[in-house]
Amino acid sequence: MAFSYARAAHYFVLADFIAGFRLGFKYFFKPKKTLNYPFEKGPLSPRFRGEHALRRYPNGEERCIACKLCEAICPAQAITIEAEPREDGSRRTTRYDIDMTKCIYCGFCQEACPVDAIVEGPNFEFATETREELFYNKDKLLANGDRWEREIARNLELDAPYR
Ligand code: SF4
Ligand code: SF4
Repeated sequence: MAFSYARAAHYFVLADFIAGFRLGFKYFFKPKKTLNYPFEKGPLSPRFRGEHALRRYPNGEERCIACKLCEAICPAQAITIEAEPREDGSRRTTRYDIDMTKCIYCGFCQEACPVDAIVEGPNFEFATETREELFYNKDKLLANGDRWEREIARNLELDAPYR
């Protein structure tokens, strides 16, 4: 390669180094793109489909009326429901299981439910150490509903104009 005075001058004044340093300085004062997870988290859409929950009415009664529409529509056949009438004549589930290892988070169960009982909440941090912990039963789903009710109700309210 032929000797070039321009190239030599470029190297001599450390032009690449200075350009890199200038770029670094430019981003030093800009807002950070990275988050300090888990202490900071990015915004979530009200339509985010996370961990499932069974909701209750404000008086504590469970919403689910055991119509089994969610079980019928689930494309992964992840939901298993058994139901019996109560003494007061109302129909409620005696068993409501979701196999979270099968679930594909399509949201069809939530869409099919006529009383907003089964929903996919905003929780995405439910990793487990064993498969068995991902076999959710009714108690677990109702506990999720109790824990996340405020956020779930707010998300449903925000999404309501578009449904
Ligand atoms: S989100 Fe979809 S796959 Fe998962 S339980 Fe509901 S209907 Fe089934
Ligand atoms: S969760 Fe909703 S769709 Fe599923 S059985 Fe209960 S009321 Fe019916």
